[in-house]
Amino acid sequence: MADIIRIENLTFEYPSTEEAGSKKALENINLNIEQGTFTAIIGKNGSGKSTLAKNLNGLLLPSGGRILVKEWDTADDEHIWDIRQTAGMVFQNPDNQLISSIVEDDVAFGPENLGIEPSEIRRRVDSALEAVNMSKFSKKAPHLLSGGQKQRIAIAGVVAMRPECIIFDEPTAMLDPKGREEIMTIIKQLNKEGITAVLITHFMDEAVLADRVVIINEGSILLDGTPEYVFAQEDILKSANMDLPLAVEMSNRLRRRGIDIPKGIVTVEEMVEFICQYK
Ligand code: ADP
Repeated sequence: MADIIRIENLTFEYPSTEEAGSKKALENINLNIEQGTFTAIIGKNGSGKSTLAKNLNGLLLPSGGRILVKEWDTADDEHIWDIRQTAGMVFQNPDNQLISSIVEDDVAFGPENLGIEPSEIRRRVDSALEAVNMSKFSKKAPHLLSGGQKQRIAIAGVVAMRPECIIFDEPTAMLDPKGREEIMTIIKQLNKEGITAVLITHFMDEAVLADRVVIINEGSILLDGTPEYVFAQEDILKSANMDLPLAVEMSNRLRRRGIDIPKGIVTVEEMVEFICQYK
């Protein structure tokens, strides 16, 4: 499969301020995202995740290196709308992403701005609401919904623009556990249906659900590989003060106590499967 995003030697520096001086938020990042994949980008607070997300669809422009979305360079003004339509973005706070007083109007907002004809907008709104399991809320007021439901509406608004890729910038950070789970289910589902998913998160237990995990530490890539590979690098993760996913931490502790847990268990579901063999 082709790469939908190519990040080549990306460096990003915010304008320097008197208190903070100047420090690179990202340095020498090389990363390609293959079409149809689900990649989690994970790092501690301040590691540069959000800066990277905003660079991916041209909200911020590289200080050095370049980013290509399909064949378009994000620094090329002429293609900024092609880029934003190809790589949609979902942000942390659902309240900042909803603007209308009725759910379906909100979802229609993006396609309307693309100048799409009304009958096609109707089809897109219906299928986007279905994709996030919110069809029965189409006539409701967004402010009456839960955080997780609002975030699903925000995702529907992006889906209705038919992007090939969606960048989720900490989409569950403001949600309760139930809302978080709902959003992770939707992301997995959208990816299964063919949308390339890039999930920026600081939750290890979300990252384990991706095909690929990229760990960012102090603006550089620390590890990049399958969840099984990345979360087996206990020493590297510990030296960067990063936690392990619950199932990995549990496997390691049980192994130290002499229980023979196979390597490669990274999700709670896999741990449950393993233990249930001995029922
Ligand atoms: P994360 O999303 O992983 O928490 P960020 O990308 O927000 O990290 O931040 C990376 C670095 O850039 C941090 O050192 C942060 O203080 C700095 N930074 C973030 N936003 C700005 C800004 N608007 N101006 C100056 N520095 C910033």
